[in-house]
Amino acid sequence: MSQAPALELESDLSQAMQRGELELFFQAKGDLHNGRIHGAEALLRWWRGERLTQPGEFIPVAEKSGLIVPIGAWVIDAACAYLQTWAKIGIGDTRLAVNVSARQLLAGNLEAVVSDALARHGVRPECLELELTESMLMDDPEAASALLLRLKDIGVKISLDDFGTGYSCFANLSRFPLDALKIDQSFVRLMVEEANTAAIVAAIIALAHRLGLRVVAEGVETEAQLAYLRRLGCDEIQGFLFSRPVPEADYLALLAQGKTVSGQPEEAARTLLLVDDEPAILSALRRMLRQEGYRILTANNAVEGLERLALEPVQVVISDQRMPGMAGTEFLSRVKTMHPDCLRIILSGQAELPAVLDAINDGAVYKFFTKPWDDAHLRERIREAFRVQAVLASLKPSRP
Ligand code: C2E
Ligand code: MG
Ligand code: MG
Repeated sequence: MSQAPALELESDLSQAMQRGELELFFQAKGDLHNGRIHGAEALLRWWRGERLTQPGEFIPVAEKSGLIVPIGAWVIDAACAYLQTWAKIGIGDTRLAVNVSARQLLAGNLEAVVSDALARHGVRPECLELELTESMLMDDPEAASALLLRLKDIGVKISLDDFGTGYSCFANLSRFPLDALKIDQSFVRLMVEEANTAAIVAAIIALAHRLGLRVVAEGVETEAQLAYLRRLGCDEIQGFLFSRPVPEADYLALLAQGKTVSGQPEEAARTLLLVDDEPAILSALRRMLRQEGYRILTANNAVEGLERLALEPVQVVISDQRMPGMAGTEFLSRVKTMHPDCLRIILSGQAELPAVLDAINDGAVYKFFTKPWDDAHLRERIREAFRVQAVLASLKPSRP
């Protein structure tokens, strides 16, 4: 007796896992700060007979029947298996995001599924990212928030998918422990032509940054969308323009080619000057910032630093405080007068704070960071400094 198509689909799907018919495709995300591939999103595909079916056709059935719970666990395990393989062939810093459905959240075993998969494949938790949507958190926000905190304790990253559809509540961005926010493709599509959509996208990006979240734009299909998102300070893009979802071999080929996002801002727009009398500090900073795409200049003392600034435009300068000849604060107060558009940062020992305080209060120093530093934190603060500098510089023509 033949079944109704929906039932048939469900019964086929229930066997798809055992039959090895499920496959993950990978869609690269491009980092707008350095132009490189930041990682990928794993998207499920089902070989139903000869035909490759898309999630739109079977995820709703999987959700309704509850099959999404075992399928979702398979996706998490498969993603970790890929991460393990990639680490073995030397691409260990790749990030992989998986989509998690509401049913998985409610099933009560998500934490165990995630930590078992990480342990089984020996994967660093920060390489795995879970993409959730806002609506699935809103059924029971307190329970969801507690679960997300436990997942964060494991060390995985969490991002909010399809932001802008459904609730789109700004308060939720601080209520849940998130790392990133993905702007839904419907906004990206309209943003270039519609002033209101553009304003919403700009506000989402600005607010997310204030809350310390990275912003990913989904469904980027045109150069115009890319350029506009870059100008608004978006951190990453995902979309057909950069790459379609592709099988593993094609994704690895993209990584091997070193594919980059087109149209990086001119180098001169992002030049960083590092001034420190200790060569080891200069090389540690250089190494830490290698992937950020800045043009990096160095100087061993303040006078050399001033010479470099006279020679070419520099947007951000980071200086040590204790240097022979001229202290960092004196150096930066000169920079303030001579190159007011250059954003000034001191990176020095905690003990130097009293000496630096006056300079901060005088506005000669924008930020004071202490040695030893935390790489990820300092990198983020430097990105922020470039963003702030760009905003200040763009305001300049309208100043009285
Ligand atoms: P999503 O998580 O928002 O994934 C992005 C979707 O947008 C993908 O569709 C991707 O192929 C598509 N896309 C990416 N760039 C572009 C673009 O430039 N233009 C256009 N028009 N589309 C673009 P896909 O692969 O069909 O997946 C659809 C949805 O199915 C996903 O939306 C996600 O919600 C769900 N899904 C996919 N895999 C899984 C999974 O393993 N588990 C669960 N629970 N859901 C999944
Ligand atoms: Mg997603
Ligand atoms: Mg999405």
